[in-house]
Amino acid sequence: MFETLGERLEGALSRIRGKTRLTQADVDEALAEIRRALLEADVNIGVVNLISERVGVAAVGAMASPSLTPGQQVVKAVHNELIDVLGQDTYRIRFASTPPTILLLAGLQGSGKTTAAAKLALLLRRQGRSPYLIAADLARPGAVRQLEILGEQAGVPVFSEPTTPVEVATKGVAEARRLARDVVIIDTAGRLAIDDALMNEVSEIQKATQAHLRFLVVDAMIGQDAVVTARAFDERLELSAVILTKLDGDARGGAALSVKEVVGKPIAFASVGEKLEDFEPFYPDRMASRILGMGDVLSLIERAQDTMDEDVAKKGADRLRTGHFDLEDFLEQLRQVRKMGPLKGVLSMLPGVPKELKNQDIDEGEISRIEAIVSSMTKAERKNPSIIDVSRRARIASGSGTTQLQVNTLLKQFRDMNKMMRQMGVGPPSATRSRAKS
Ligand code: GDP
Repeated sequence: MFETLGERLEGALSRIRGKTRLTQADVDEALAEIRRALLEADVNIGVVNLISERVGVAAVGAMASPSLTPGQQVVKAVHNELIDVLGQDTYRIRFASTPPTILLLAGLQGSGKTTAAAKLALLLRRQGRSPYLIAADLARPGAVRQLEILGEQAGVPVFSEPTTPVEVATKGVAEARRLARDVVIIDTAGRLAIDDALMNEVSEIQKATQAHLRFLVVDAMIGQDAVVTARAFDERLELSAVILTKLDGDARGGAALSVKEVVGKPIAFASVGEKLEDFEPFYPDRMASRILGMGDVLSLIERAQDTMDEDVAKKGADRLRTGHFDLEDFLEQLRQVRKMGPLKGVLSMLPGVPKELKNQDIDEGEISRIEAIVSSMTKAERKNPSIIDVSRRARIASGSGTTQLQVNTLLKQFRDMNKMMRQMGVGPPSATRSRAKS
């Protein structure tokens, strides 16, 4: 996401970043390039003007300041402005004092509403809440079934009934109350474009349920049109916040960078993939850092904490340090890392990773192959690969659907890695070492 915008901004800033003296010409050139980058990313013109004006002021200050790194100050100003238009603070759901807190999700068809409802439910469940989903999108065929399936995957019950949207919603809320669920998420129907029928239906549901919070689900790929959609829904629903979806795609950034400033509604959550877990609170500061190529280590750490088993990770590190890391450990660690999602996504959050590497298609198939090979070994083989003879190798290859050559290559790589670790002085534990000496 935001790759092109990020590259363009970095390009504009790289010329002045390390400069110890800034001239007016440097600043003018950088500002013009920043404007072009933002406009190309489909950012609202008002927002583009605002950003370039403020960065311009900061640049004048930087030129006059005795600081040794005026270029760096301009970079910082751009970073600050991005955070500002993205929304400064992270949105927090204000839960009602008397549960259940009712959340209504509205948006155009295909914006990702139904998936967002289930993703939000999972997120809230993981935070210790007891959410309840209501399938009130009776217009799109399959929407109810889709929510039921997703709800099951998320471990969250779904209420549905083939009546009218308003009735499903009211009955669902009553049922949530009866079951003492503390958050209700209502999925509503969308249309391909804003029309009266859609607006009336969603307003009726709102009137009937008195939802505490109204979220608009917006596909980030629609760019600045997001602003038009948000305005229309805001007029009828008095929106609380926006959920941006499909940020994993090639969204140019226009939606994210325009909606808060122009419509005045914060971005509450970001959906960044098709899986239920690909959904996170929207952090303006982290997003700004990501756009400027500064990485997003905090999100990475959080994702690791959510998915990784700390004990397993620590055990792996200890065994690596003491030279006891075998294929059994390797398999365990590999599975941990893979739980964090596609490696490409993981890499993209690290600062300083060269673009070529980030853009490179990591062969997930190759990684699956490695996992298959190691999984096809017996525990004894994983603990002590040297027992793998020709016949064992043939069995592993056929068990993992690979060739003997591929098995051999993996074993060799593993041996090389262990050798390298030993050479780095992390090798055998001290007890063995002292015995070896004597
Ligand atoms: P609705 O009509 O608004 O309920 O839209 P859906 O929830 O059915 O989503 C439409 C399509 O977009 C589905 O194929 C989803 O899998 C997909 N989708 C939703 N959110 C995301 C996302 O964040 N990233 C990607 N890549 N796809 C998404």
